[in-house]
Amino acid sequence: MPYQQLSVEMIPEYFSGLPEMKNIFSNFNNLNVREVGDGNLNYVYLVTNNDASNESVALKQAVPFLRIVGESWPLPKERMTIEIKALQKASEWCPQHVPEIYYYSHEMSLVIMKDLSTHGVLRGQLIEGQYFAKFADHISTYLAETLFHTSDIFLNPREKKELVRDFINIDLCQITEDFVFTHPFEQNETNVYNIELKDFEIKSIQEDCELKIAVAEMKRKFMTEAQALIHGDLHTGSIMANEEETYVIDPEFAFYGPIGFDVGALIGNFLMTYFSHEHRQNLLGREPYQYRKWLLDTIEIIWKEFVNKFELLWVEQATSEQSLYWAYERGEEHFKKQRDVFLLDLFQDTLGFAACKMMRRILGLAKVADIADIRDLKERARIENMTLQMGKKLVTERKKINSIEEVIDLAKSFSELR
Ligand code: ADP
Ligand code: MG
Repeated sequence: MPYQQLSVEMIPEYFSGLPEMKNIFSNFNNLNVREVGDGNLNYVYLVTNNDASNESVALKQAVPFLRIVGESWPLPKERMTIEIKALQKASEWCPQHVPEIYYYSHEMSLVIMKDLSTHGVLRGQLIEGQYFAKFADHISTYLAETLFHTSDIFLNPREKKELVRDFINIDLCQITEDFVFTHPFEQNETNVYNIELKDFEIKSIQEDCELKIAVAEMKRKFMTEAQALIHGDLHTGSIMANEEETYVIDPEFAFYGPIGFDVGALIGNFLMTYFSHEHRQNLLGREPYQYRKWLLDTIEIIWKEFVNKFELLWVEQATSEQSLYWAYERGEEHFKKQRDVFLLDLFQDTLGFAACKMMRRILGLAKVADIADIRDLKERARIENMTLQMGKKLVTERKKINSIEEVIDLAKSFSELR
């Protein structure tokens, strides 16, 4: 079927013509269709059978433009092809954290997948102060499995290069290059500032020599280091979770990039949530310690568990391959050193990317609700400055930071944990 933008009204008939939907829906006479996409780019519909409420799916379709801006900002709908392939690749290694796909069409730029409406978007639930005891374990598994198994450590070099080719994602990479690494760090017309943010505070980021060089270095890494198939947009709005389960959605920015970009996106977003809760816990009428402690603990566990799991996969791989490279008396020890060097480098990348992601959410076009929805603009600016200054420190000093504990201490130095 050639491309056609679907509407709520068209979906029941469209579904009735798909054999895959006949396995899910017992009839098509009484389907309820709701558009739920809060995203900036695409349309998401939930389709439920009014006659059998357990029969439901989610449908996501890309349109050939950027949804929030409209047709004046064209964006190839073929990005859905990347999203579909990235969901498939991730579920090869980590099916428990990726929504099951029931049907897809590259021509129609759509995917029909598991309805996750019993799982809220993580960001909103963190804003409300909810706890997710299993989240750090789940997401560290997702990160380790997907990133390790698409990297050169695991794949044979030919297969890896074919994947690099298959996941060239020019348009969405450009969005990141512009809106994460460039515009927020210059006087760009697309930037949006809280009016309570002072000029000198903005300049302390946009005109700082060391910071500008460090951000440019992170941008270069983003553009040149094809380490693994990364999600490319792994913030807390790309995760749907409840207390029991965690799903990663929306990988349309996927491409072969630096591993630290995914890990950093997540950690940077948790740091922003931590800062926002200095204010939000008061709004929720709670004493501010416990939830913020949980957020910092979660950051620490995510990093440590990710490293443990990644390293374990690596050692298992080396053992099963029986490579000659380390096959000598002190080889084991030298192999351990190599892993340590790689993982420290990855850690410092993670900090640099987390920092860019944090600063861009304050100065750039796309905000995070955690901070931007704080109504008291002076209070919001205070939290924005913490975020900016922490970002500045992380990106410029990343090569001197050796442990996640130091990062946590730094966060506490900007927003005391008490
Ligand atoms: P976009 O690419 O436009 O950002 P997302 O993939 O982030 O779109 O989806 C937008 C919103 O649609 C999500 O925030 C979530 O509320 C909802 N959504 C997406 N996928 C599902 C799903 N499988 N089940 C239920 N809701 C979903
Ligand atoms: Mg998206």
